[in-house]
Amino acid sequence: MLYFDCAASTRPYPEALAAFLEASSSCFGNPSSRHEVGYSAEKLVERSRESMLSALGLGATHRLVFCSGATEANNLALKGTALSYRNRGRKILTSPLEHPSVLNALKALARDEGFEVSFLALREDGKVDLDDLRAKLDPSVVLVSCMAVNNETGIVQPIAEIGKIVKTSRKAFFHCDATQAIGKIPLALSDVDLLTFSAHKFGGVKGVGALVCKKTMRLLPQLDGGEQEYGLRAGTIDAPSIAAMEAAFKKSVREQKENLAKVSALAAYLREGLGKIAEVRVISPLDASPYVLDFALLSHKASVVVEALSERGIYVSSVSACSSKSTSSSYVLAALGYPPRLAENPIRVSMPVETTREEIDFFLASLTAILKETFPL
Ligand code: PMP
Repeated sequence: MLYFDCAASTRPYPEALAAFLEASSSCFGNPSSRHEVGYSAEKLVERSRESMLSALGLGATHRLVFCSGATEANNLALKGTALSYRNRGRKILTSPLEHPSVLNALKALARDEGFEVSFLALREDGKVDLDDLRAKLDPSVVLVSCMAVNNETGIVQPIAEIGKIVKTSRKAFFHCDATQAIGKIPLALSDVDLLTFSAHKFGGVKGVGALVCKKTMRLLPQLDGGEQEYGLRAGTIDAPSIAAMEAAFKKSVREQKENLAKVSALAAYLREGLGKIAEVRVISPLDASPYVLDFALLSHKASVVVEALSERGIYVSSVSACSSKSTSSSYVLAALGYPPRLAENPIRVSMPVETTREEIDFFLASLTAILKETFPL
């Protein structure tokens, strides 16, 4: 099998599974319980919190709130901030390339709470136009949200520059969805007020993620319940999943540089091979995260090709897993200006670091054969 869909979810690291099992058997208590079994779970959670915050370089200024994943973290970051600081202003700026958990949370704020959501212009290469951000950042802007790495195309946004510009406003907060970036590429986070990510994208288990937010911020919680997680996220804290997330996080951060070099070489090799297939148009720009390589089919239906690849034991995505049930067209490619024929037929390859060139050759040969066998559109 060739699992080339790591942007949808990674295989958990053995270290993460071991940490999960160990915590499930030795720290199974409720971290809020005031007895020894609870204390040991609480200790583990607090150790994970501190170690992740300090690895991010945000230990002095931010707090980390554990939650169920990036979807929940994005909702808490955006709704929690906008609703808490609504007196500062009603305008929110974002990019049209954001994940549905950002776009739909903002849509809800516009529909239900009267916020005005404005989309930032993109440059030719898909990066946010910083001049447009400067122009739109008026005193009524309370929040700017921009992802670090796009989940469909790997486009890397200039987070450091965006943060610096947002900081010129005394009223606006900066949220960055770093779900496809954490543990993969270097990030400059000093001007990020709210950072979100999910463990299953970097070798942790599914169902746990985090919102990292400035200690000085007050957010409106989105769940009513107990006082866990600074009163920001009610519900029993999942210590075993958090232990697994910390183990995966540490490994990813420790190996980030080496893995990035390896995956960059693999992506370059795949890109070169794709360049020789006439029916393919590579979408991901050269400076995209190599963990995501997106291409479009010029004259074939991507969903048919993805299925045919799957029958050969090769697993890739057409439109991203979060949108694939409802639509066959990529709003990300449409926003980047690609015509419907291409936007409707993307294939995303996201390889694990241990992929070999022989496996890439096998993928390219299989794709070529399938394109030959399959009727064009
Ligand atoms: N943001 C981005 C950029 C993502 O890629 C994803 C997962 N596809 C999410 C948010 C949502 O993460 P989760 O599935 O953990 O809620």
